[in-house]
Amino acid sequence: MRQYWEQRQQAGDALLLFRMGDFYELFYDQAETAARVLGITLTSRDSGKTPLAGIPYHALQSYLRRLIRAGYRVAISEQIEDPKEAKGVVKRAIMRIVTPGTLTDDSLLDRTQRNVLAAVCEAAADRLRTGPAEVGFATLELSSGEIFVQLCGPERLVDDLCRATPAEIVLAEWEGVGRHPLEAELRERVGAAITYRSPADFNPHRAEQLLTEQFEVRGLIGFGFEKIDASLQAAGALLAYVRETQRGAIRHLRPPRRVNADDYLVLDQTTLRSLEIERTMRGGGRAGTLLAAVDGTRNPMGVRLLRQWLCYPLRDPARIVQRQELIEALRRDDGRRAAVRAALGEMGDVERMVARLGLQRSHPRELRCLGEALLALAGVRAALRDLQHEQADALAERLEGLDEIGQQLCAALRPDAPVALKEGSIFAEGYHAELDRLLAIGRDGQTWLAEYQAREVQRTGIASLKVGFNKIFGYYIEVTNPNRDRVPPEYVRKQTVKNAERYLTDELKRYEAEVLTAESRANELEYELFGQLRDQTAAHIPRMQQAAAALAALDVLAGWAELALRRNWCRPEFVDEPVLEIDAGRHPVLDATMGEAFVANETRLAARPKGSRDQGSEGSRQEDDAGVADRPAEPRSLDPSIARSLALITGPNMAGKSTYIRQAALLSLLAHCGCWVPAKRMRLGVVDRIFTRVGASDELARGQSTFMVEMLEAANILHNASPHSLVILDEIGRGTSTFDGLSLAWAVTEYLATRIGCRTLFATHYHEVTELADLLDGVCNLNVAVREYEDRVVFLHRIVPGAADRSYGLHVAKLAGLPREVLERAHAVLIELEKTFARESQRPVLAAAQRRRQRQLRLFEEPEEAIVRELRDLPAELEPQRALELIRRWRGALAGGR
Ligand code: ADP
Ligand code: MG
Repeated sequence: MRQYWEQRQQAGDALLLFRMGDFYELFYDQAETAARVLGITLTSRDSGKTPLAGIPYHALQSYLRRLIRAGYRVAISEQIEDPKEAKGVVKRAIMRIVTPGTLTDDSLLDRTQRNVLAAVCEAAADRLRTGPAEVGFATLELSSGEIFVQLCGPERLVDDLCRATPAEIVLAEWEGVGRHPLEAELRERVGAAITYRSPADFNPHRAEQLLTEQFEVRGLIGFGFEKIDASLQAAGALLAYVRETQRGAIRHLRPPRRVNADDYLVLDQTTLRSLEIERTMRGGGRAGTLLAAVDGTRNPMGVRLLRQWLCYPLRDPARIVQRQELIEALRRDDGRRAAVRAALGEMGDVERMVARLGLQRSHPRELRCLGEALLALAGVRAALRDLQHEQADALAERLEGLDEIGQQLCAALRPDAPVALKEGSIFAEGYHAELDRLLAIGRDGQTWLAEYQAREVQRTGIASLKVGFNKIFGYYIEVTNPNRDRVPPEYVRKQTVKNAERYLTDELKRYEAEVLTAESRANELEYELFGQLRDQTAAHIPRMQQAAAALAALDVLAGWAELALRRNWCRPEFVDEPVLEIDAGRHPVLDATMGEAFVANETRLAARPKGSRDQGSEGSRQEDDAGVADRPAEPRSLDPSIARSLALITGPNMAGKSTYIRQAALLSLLAHCGCWVPAKRMRLGVVDRIFTRVGASDELARGQSTFMVEMLEAANILHNASPHSLVILDEIGRGTSTFDGLSLAWAVTEYLATRIGCRTLFATHYHEVTELADLLDGVCNLNVAVREYEDRVVFLHRIVPGAADRSYGLHVAKLAGLPREVLERAHAVLIELEKTFARESQRPVLAAAQRRRQRQLRLFEEPEEAIVRELRDLPAELEPQRALELIRRWRGALAGGR
């Protein structure tokens, strides 16, 4: 137990799995934890004083997976000497600590997902003294060796971390309190396990030392870092942490690279969720997401990169065009594309194989796979060069220089090389002379045995005499019972089995000693040679990583080329104007599931940065009024010459509003990834951010206080959207009473259209807001065309200009067969309501109110409020006569005012 407690101390807060014979045991409080989490039996020893729970050693991986999923860190302590040879207690040592963010075992990793560790550095003193300053964070993916560092404002930290999806976050202990103030938020919103380390791990000097040591450089300037900032301090803490958990050399880490937030389109967490990019909102599955819809990859490396690309769309048109070009080249050439994709499908996960190589954890079978993958590079290169395209050539170049090591590995290792390192059968014949000699002894032994058996059969005259082998007795001669009396005297009886006796001879024993020692020497030699081969291969890690990255990119692009071709997608055109124009656009997810049945739609938006608009021109109103008044029989197309920055989309439930506005966002996002899009034509100016907000009623899963959340999100958009942003609002303002909601929807629309002028699509059921198209040049109305057909309502899912017909709800009710009496009454109430709203003017009420009050919006002022206002404004001294007069007037207003 002394050994146990020593290691408990080393393991910190990790669960210690303590190897004892065929079991890993947990003790005390940890036994209770494991019993609860794993549902294994809690026992005890020392007559109940020591609680104990055990895991059979061969089932380690599956239990480990469950503990890690539950957010625990696990230290694995192995016996490091042979129990048979040990004097006293068997020596044990912690071989590694497995944590949620540092997985490398294939069986613990999800092949479609990166496993990321992050560290956040935010100097405590700074925060207390000067308020929130810049925060730095770093991420490390141990299974690819990539380290990214990023500086960001504190308000962006959680969103940026969400995008990086770390499974575990390392934080500095907060002085005095221990817990970091961000802990709860990071746990909840990022969904990561939190690990605390001493603030010393984040020290800038220590970071510099660790980083220069790891990458064997004298300073970090060569990597483009002038000075140690918070993000590099975080990288230092990461490095300290993986050294602690991996307990061995880590040879595959790549120098840190800086992520500049401005290089990528900003997508906050809410937008990622509501656009269902990698998870659906209901159910949280992968089916039905954008990721699934645009996944044409053939290799797990591609799947993981695809996720990255979708979550980090590019903002530099030059880089976007590079990807588009490669897709074009691959799309044109069916043969080469098929060849590349087939090769990728067979290649295996080079990136992760290389990572295990870097951690000295590869086994013979995996190294053989790696060798085969490297050999396949020549074919991929040839296919790429045949595309005759500059970008393809550049990609091919990154697959260069590994043929030789590929050949070496395949020549050295047997095609059926095992997983085990110590049981031989690793190397092919001809790889090593001494090994061949030892193996020959075993092989020649087979001939010798056959000859020996023949010789003995002849000598004894027992035709059924056989030479056999088993693990307990080694080689023996077996003679069946009827022949027992013919056995020569020098045979020594060893074992009786059913119907036969087994014997040994001196000759056989001598032979056995020679063969068995040769075998065990061969196994030892193979183990040693394998270690050498592994180290030799490890020297090529950087080049292999470069190739792996190129393969992953190629996989995504070839998949996109295939999609573009099969589904008839088009290549978006980026222009300098801040427009968004889509002809015959389809929703990428529904395009895949509905096919022909999906109705394509067009989108026309043009940002109108502040200062470029003239408000309330009569001309534009005419056009829109025409659209409202008599909707054309055949849906007409949207006129590009009147593109507005903000479109309001109204229409009955289930008409397709949400689909339409998401489609615009998803197509814009795909375009920025370099992917082609489901449309006939798309033209757009670069977007800096996409905001998507879905109102409370459209998102049931959200739970309490939805309205508050909604308002917080609206505030976030209004503060952060720029004229280059794309804003998608779906039914916001719905989670409150009609008037509140309407006023907010109105004000938000107005602000977006006049103060920001960014491209905006707003689906709303507040019909009143459509009047804004009358007032503001930047706003137009769209609705979804609907037809009545016999006794059914048919949604055409076709977006047309103009506001929706308000009485539509009653039509639907009628068609649904509500009693005539109810319908008539509802109709009467509706007319009454409309009259009340339009009480002062024939013009649309809000627009009229707006004009009358010189754009000072007082939507629903009651007479009482007017009176109070007047009262408040009265001078302190007042003539009695004047006071009486006022009171009379007010009384009159209250009596008949409405
Ligand atoms: P709304 O937001 O107006 O209530 P949705 O956008 O949620 O409507 O669409 C409701 C359903 O209508 C979708 O689930 C889809 O099945 C169908 N739909 C929407 N748009 C289209 C379209 N363009 N073509 C065909 N079906 C569509
Ligand atoms: Mg909707």
